[in-house]
Amino acid sequence: MVKIIDGKELAQTTTDNLKFEIENLKKKGVIPALVVIVVGEDQASQIYVKNKHRVAESIGIKSIITKLPSSTSESDLLALISEYNENPDVHGILVQLPLPKQINEKKITESIRPEKDVDGFHPVNIGRLVMNDPLAIPCTPMGIMRMFTAYDIDVEGKNAVVVGRSNIVGKPMAALLLNANATVTVTHSHTQNLSEITKQADILVVAIGQANFIKKADVKQGAVVIDVGMNRLDSGKLAGDVDKDVSDVAGYLTPVPKGVGPMTIAMLMEQTIELTKRSVGIG
Ligand code: NDP
Repeated sequence: MVKIIDGKELAQTTTDNLKFEIENLKKKGVIPALVVIVVGEDQASQIYVKNKHRVAESIGIKSIITKLPSSTSESDLLALISEYNENPDVHGILVQLPLPKQINEKKITESIRPEKDVDGFHPVNIGRLVMNDPLAIPCTPMGIMRMFTAYDIDVEGKNAVVVGRSNIVGKPMAALLLNANATVTVTHSHTQNLSEITKQADILVVAIGQANFIKKADVKQGAVVIDVGMNRLDSGKLAGDVDKDVSDVAGYLTPVPKGVGPMTIAMLMEQTIELTKRSVGIG
């Protein structure tokens, strides 16, 4: 029988546990503050930002949302980020992606100070992660590693296959698994015989953005299957990258929704607290 990994519940426990730390920081006169900048009207972005704000406020993190029009220039956005970089009362800065075409995402990502880069996307943070000396870690793969720990899933020595190689999910996921002593294979749209590779996986992480792409014939009996995908169907429903029939063969499976998504937000909160503590020399 497949075990469903309850990301929602684990996220709730994780954020509940943070309240105590936030209280302690406040007693010392430190109010953890997270700035989220959103440019334009992308609908999915608006929902993500609202969810992050709701969770932050519910546990006592000061959440500052800065909404800018889609016509915002790159230089104006850089100037705003520079202000937040210099502001000692701001501990985490996140720019919601995607950005409008006139703004270079790479430039923006690189403009956030690594010590405030709560998304962990800055090249310095990616480099430190690869060298197994992390400062800030991309929240989605970080949340997945936390799921393994919470469900006593030992990754050491296991065959781990990551489907997808984006800078925000696939690549940092592979680095974290490698740091945890898994044997890691990263696959992508040019991979040949993908199914032959995924069938070897003890741990299979799928992040490609194609609804129900991985079927039960692609999965080894008893494998741990992590579905990162969030695909909006024409019906309006949300679907993962993994087909429901995978539950017939998997040992563990994350649902969509209520799987990886809530853990991503919980890790964002945890990382805000970690960066806050670091900035004031605690922990
Ligand atoms: P990207 O579009 O940036 O990357 C997709 C990756 O999948 C690419 O590396 C691409 O390969 C690969 N790919 C695409 N099609 C195939 C295929 N047929 N076979 C093998 N590989 C394929 O996506 P993201 O990593 O940003 O996101 C992936 C999914 O995860 C999306 O559904 C997104 O919404 C979701 N997501 C969910 C989050 C959460 O919190 N739950 C957070 C972030 C993302 P190539 O490099 O060759 O093009």
